[in-house]
Amino acid sequence: MLIDAHAHLDLYTDDILESALEEIKGHEIFTISNSMDPASYRRNLEIGQMSRLVLPTFGVHPWKAPEYVQRLQELTGAVEQSLMLGEIGLDHQFVEDTRQYPAQREVFEFFLTAAKEQDKIVNLHTKGAEQETFKLLRQYDIQRAIVHWYSGPLDILRELKDRGIYFTVGLEVLHSDDIKTIVRELPTELLLTETDNPGGLEWLTGVPGMPRMVTEVVEALAKLRGITAQEMVQAVQSNFERLIGDDSRWSEVYTRILNKNQSP
Ligand SMILES: [Zn+2]
Repeated sequence: MLIDAHAHLDLYTDDILESALEEIKGHEIFTISNSMDPASYRRNLEIGQMSRLVLPTFGVHPWKAPEYVQRLQELTGAVEQSLMLGEIGLDHQFVEDTRQYPAQREVFEFFLTAAKEQDKIVNLHTKGAEQETFKLLRQYDIQRAIVHWYSGPLDILRELKDRGIYFTVGLEVLHSDDIKTIVRELPTELLLTETDNPGGLEWLTGVPGMPRMVTEVVEALAKLRGITAQEMVQAVQSNFERLIGDDSRWSEVYTRILNKNQSP
């Protein structure tokens, strides 16, 4: 089974969403659909009803943090409901207005507190704030985390790697030597795949990304590792299963995801 551990299916327009869900079904792609805020989560929950392969997760993206920093109590229900928390984190690269950083940090710490208390996996955005994110993961003693689209310094990458953090690698690996270097630094055991659809490819090329593109990521990773694409698919699936471990809350969900005979 292919895994797209970081996508945003709620950001597709209705007509494209239909073909995206067909591709997810056709290629058997388990897709974690991250949210930016409560409205985005509500849409992802609807999409989750349309496909057994889609898992909606709740988070408040750092770009949305200033809107929610005064309303954190409104988020607790969704946080408790969500099996994984994402997309959460810090962004000091695309967000240049430093006045927003305290709000980003407060919202992120709210989610890290919940992740620790509820023993949840987090799906992280770390752009330009890799060092600070790493410090907070240590401070909150977060054990299970996925860092999405890492492009930061190699010394922090090594620290995250030593902590057993997982990394989702996306389409940029096809074009960027820096991302290839990052992949070479990481053991196969910590690699996961993502598309960041539909925005990931849109950011790189101007065209919205489609789910099947995760196969291109798999092929690129396999080539870098000197293994076959099929072996890479297996490795990513084993990695994901190691990440969820024996967490009983995941068992039912994961069994449904794997069950091809169940509809839709
Ligand atoms: Zn994202």
